[in-house]
Amino acid sequence: MNIILLGPPGAGKGTQAQRLVEQRNMVQLSTGDMLRAAVAAETEIGKKAKAVMDAGQLVSDEIVIGVVSDRLDQDDVKASNGVIFDGFPRTTAQAEALEDLMTEKGMKLEEVIEMRVDDELLVGRILQRAKENGGSRADDNEETLRDRLKVYNTQTAPLIDFYKEKGKLVTVDGEQSIDEVTASILEALDR
Ligand code: AMP
Repeated sequence: MNIILLGPPGAGKGTQAQRLVEQRNMVQLSTGDMLRAAVAAETEIGKKAKAVMDAGQLVSDEIVIGVVSDRLDQDDVKASNGVIFDGFPRTTAQAEALEDLMTEKGMKLEEVIEMRVDDELLVGRILQRAKENGGSRADDNEETLRDRLKVYNTQTAPLIDFYKEKGKLVTVDGEQSIDEVTASILEALDR
């Protein structure tokens, strides 16, 4: 079962993906994590992505789609019970490319779980995360966060309707406790 976790920065996508990895033998595919690793390793992709990420803007569709395509070809993905896309797709072009990639690789997208959280609550959550991580993410600060939310609302939120029209969207209340959100997601997956 392959699913997408869709939601703004700070909605808890990474936390919930981790839980699905543990409980369902799924693989988390976080483009943010992969891009941060590329930045840290100073690869060509990392060099191109760094300034864009620090500014809270989106890395080009071309780069991100390439990274995802390579990841889907790896053995652990093939041996798993499915992929949890976390932070991808973030634009309509990425969503369309994902459809093509999955068709090409013989995969099927089962469900898109939208985690809905109010913007103001997100700011508090991200600033809390910044404190806990000791500033390890250059983009976890209030100013960049406002930009990331704007980017989400303009470029990524249209995917909600995109997937609704395909009959794949399930919305869960991301303002519940972490355990309650997990329970809502598992319920949606098992339905
Ligand atoms: P995240 O960890 O998902 O919040 O991503 C951190 C940053 O990485 C984003 O603000 C973007 O700059 C970049 N990024 C991650 N995923 C994508 C994507 N699917 N498309 C474009 N940029 C991305």
